[in-house]
Amino acid sequence: MKIRFLGAAGTVTGSRYLLTHGGQNLLVDCGLFQGVKNIRSRNWKPFPVAPKDISAIVLTHAHLDHSGYLPRLMREGFDGPVWTTPASRELVEILLEDSAHLQEEDARHANRHGYSKHHPAEPLYTAEDARHAMKHVRSTGFGEPVTIGPFHVTFSGAGHILGAASIRVECAGKSITFSGDLGRPDDPVMKPPEPLAPTDWLVVESTYGDRLHPKDDPYETLAGIVSRTAARGGTVLLPSFAVGRAQALMYLLSRLMDEHRIPELPVFLDSPMAIDVTGVFRHYRHEHRLSQDACDRVRDAVTYTRTPEESEALASNRYPKVIIAGAGMLNGGRILHQLIAFGADPRNTVVIAGFQAEGTRGDALLKGKRSLRIFGSDVPINCEVTQIEGLSAHADYSEILDWLRPLERAPRRVFVTHGEPVASDSLRQKLEHELGWSAVVPEQDEAFDLK
Ligand SMILES: [Zn+2]
Repeated sequence: MKIRFLGAAGTVTGSRYLLTHGGQNLLVDCGLFQGVKNIRSRNWKPFPVAPKDISAIVLTHAHLDHSGYLPRLMREGFDGPVWTTPASRELVEILLEDSAHLQEEDARHANRHGYSKHHPAEPLYTAEDARHAMKHVRSTGFGEPVTIGPFHVTFSGAGHILGAASIRVECAGKSITFSGDLGRPDDPVMKPPEPLAPTDWLVVESTYGDRLHPKDDPYETLAGIVSRTAARGGTVLLPSFAVGRAQALMYLLSRLMDEHRIPELPVFLDSPMAIDVTGVFRHYRHEHRLSQDACDRVRDAVTYTRTPEESEALASNRYPKVIIAGAGMLNGGRILHQLIAFGADPRNTVVIAGFQAEGTRGDALLKGKRSLRIFGSDVPINCEVTQIEGLSAHADYSEILDWLRPLERAPRRVFVTHGEPVASDSLRQKLEHELGWSAVVPEQDEAFDLK
């Protein structure tokens, strides 16, 4: 068996790993490169292996940096099955459709402003490509193996987000395990990752390979923010990712109201995508920690604003309330309209939760910028700007090591991926020094014989 690292090597996005044995190719994850322009431009390069020569794809989870290249690979000739878990399949459908609309919007924008090298600019893929790709996606449950040519593939729970899996591939008497994005032992909504089975090789993520999460309790922080904003007669804006973060925030808010820690305020989920994702959460109740009661309580505590008209009506509602809206880094979505409506009033609060990529508006706010360029205008931000930490969906390095430590036999080698170079190398050193394991940070396109 051979492995080749086609992405998430030296960077956190574009997860794509190719396993080859006996002339058969299995692609583990099919992610988009995201972030700064010179990383995103890799999405436009020809795939390093002829897509028609790939027998099948397996996806660890639905996030676009793991699934978002699928429609493009199909367009380029891939014609095999794609396997993932049932919840991931539903989330992939929601995320790919949204991603396709963004790609189409980008192309229209480039054509209007004439900045593309290509005339006319084409989207990476269209909504129709995304719908076509979904016809190839099949699902199997956690612990229910699938055989793909010489490869036997098993999914096990990784926490992180709904449906997320670690993937174990057995082939010719050897095994390799892909951690996927690894969740946390004490996530308020997701269950902890399942224990790791002995494996000959291991590919492990390192998003937080050099960092520890702060010990702040997000529950307490949120209680303080909502209480003081409500006391001022203000509105709390919670920019949020649609998958995972939005559901965790809704759950924390409903619990805080039940426990009378915050006033009974109207809470709005102002994101059609997050509303759809919340429906999937209700459908897979056994895969997360929330009971039926807790799910019902969240549904009763939160008002969904699906239409643009309902969303616009929020902007003119001056009563204290909480609005959860996408996008999480303020780089698009309805939160921008809400910032225009609420950002200038010092009674209100905008709460940044989670990692903010360099160059995003969320990053600018955290760095103290108090005027944001939105739809061509400068919007003053006089409201309180604050942060909630501790809601990350990724294990930090000590949580990763805790997941690995119980293994009785060290893997022959660990490949450290899915991190900025400093984070990956830091985790590699910890694996070598603290566990005494052999570890390497592969480079983009590097291949290894698994013998
Ligand atoms: Zn992820």
